[in-house]
Amino acid sequence: MPEASFPLSDSAQKLAQLSARVAELESERELTLRLAQTDSLTGLVNRGAFTAALCERLEAARRASGRVALFVVDLDRFKHLNDTLGHHAGDLFLAEIGERLRCDAGPSELVARLGGDEFAVICTLADRDAAEPAHRAQRLLDLLTQPHSIYGRMVSPGASVGVAIYPDDAPDAGDLQRFADMALYRVKTQGGRRWSAFDAELRAENLRRRTLEAELRRAIPAGEIEPWFQPVVDARDGRITGVEVLARWRHPEQGLLLPGAFVPIAEELGLIGRIDEAVFEAGCARAAPWVAAGLIESVAFNVSPRDLLDPAFSRKLIGRLAKTDLPATALTVEITETFLLQDLALSRRHIERLSAKGVKIALDDFGTGYSNLRALMHLPIQTVKLDRSLICDVAKDGRVAKLVSSMLHAARALGVCIVAEGVEEETQAIFLRHAGCERMQGYFFARPMPAADMETQLRASHEQAPRVFEAQPSRRRARA
Ligand code: C2E
Ligand code: CA
Ligand code: CA
Repeated sequence: MPEASFPLSDSAQKLAQLSARVAELESERELTLRLAQTDSLTGLVNRGAFTAALCERLEAARRASGRVALFVVDLDRFKHLNDTLGHHAGDLFLAEIGERLRCDAGPSELVARLGGDEFAVICTLADRDAAEPAHRAQRLLDLLTQPHSIYGRMVSPGASVGVAIYPDDAPDAGDLQRFADMALYRVKTQGGRRWSAFDAELRAENLRRRTLEAELRRAIPAGEIEPWFQPVVDARDGRITGVEVLARWRHPEQGLLLPGAFVPIAEELGLIGRIDEAVFEAGCARAAPWVAAGLIESVAFNVSPRDLLDPAFSRKLIGRLAKTDLPATALTVEITETFLLQDLALSRRHIERLSAKGVKIALDDFGTGYSNLRALMHLPIQTVKLDRSLICDVAKDGRVAKLVSSMLHAARALGVCIVAEGVEEETQAIFLRHAGCERMQGYFFARPMPAADMETQLRASHEQAPRVFEAQPSRRRARA
């Protein structure tokens, strides 16, 4: 037998020390694990741990032939509260909501914060009582509508709730979450402050989406997504200076589909990158010869905010551009302002990387979001596209006219070119021209069209005298 290296009492002491250290490490590990599963603001389970717990609960219910209800909760008007009272007040309010949900939860329930102002409650249903989920959903709403005092002000943003039930509605955790989200989304779009269960209407909607998803996956490699082109004209003489490339889906049964019918769902399914890629490749192939022939100077593409969240986006785009005949200096990438402000550091990296190659950046849909011209000062953005919603009232509403004029003025001071979008009437075009707008785009000049028509029009207008759309001679000189 090997001899003990130290006296027994000593080794017992070491052993005790060792086991104390092991216990310490165990509890540290437990703490780290718990922290990793906990949302630090509310102390509730976080999204990662929630997904794991949901799978476990469903598995247990499957074995016991039981049912589980999933409630997803979203606060209404929380953003407004955050904006008016500040982030600290928003945090206090979220912590209070978390506390309410935790105190109210029954022993068979699990409450989680999924992020932002979104929460979830997993509830193992006790019996076959069909009304139980409805009662629970209503109780959640009542609980969350009760006012709460922050900095001496009573606030009650209210909430919306979506419900889906396993196994009645969905066979697994993924579908259960999606269906509860669909129910929630429907409530939100109808004004909130209600709860809604996944039902036959949403089931049909889900089926429609699934079909669309399968069709879209087939359509992209089949070349059914095609680029259409809308001219951008010089505000002074109506000469076409560039084109915006817009996606169209030539669906074998439904005919030509507009982006509104497939871009949002493609974004949701993570397919938008592939659509943008297809539009970019085909669009460059058609438009590069127009640039080479001197018919246009610029070709603008839309990119989804989703793509822009990819840190490799700009590098990939530069690589793709190199495979086309389009010079980098003729390419404009249109991005929306919401993305820009979402992640300023990442946007800056993309924008700077693209600018370094000579690619221009246009800020799309300006005037719909925060419209922060100051943010532009620090970024190499050459173009701002004024949203159609502003242009549409420009000749009718004096206040809109003033706003647009001052935006044009500010843009000029910053050396930014403004493209007015959605110009449908001559009066709008005349106003904009007088206000110093440099570029215009809209049905008044031309609707989006297939490549062949665009080419015909470009060649024809190249030979014609510039189009004059000015009804009367201008009193003020338009900006050169
Ligand atoms: P957008 O980038 O703001 O594009 C302008 C939209 O306004 C186009 O709609 C265009 O047809 C429409 N439009 C142009 N002039 C007028 C006008 O005078 N009056 C009215 N009422 N509308 C006008 P479209 O082609 O349906 O595209 C809608 C949106 O879909 C685009 O808005 C863009 O955000 C997105 N989109 C289009 N193509 C792509 C693409 O290839 N990739 C991505 N990610 N998004 C795209
Ligand atoms: Ca655009
Ligand atoms: Ca736009």
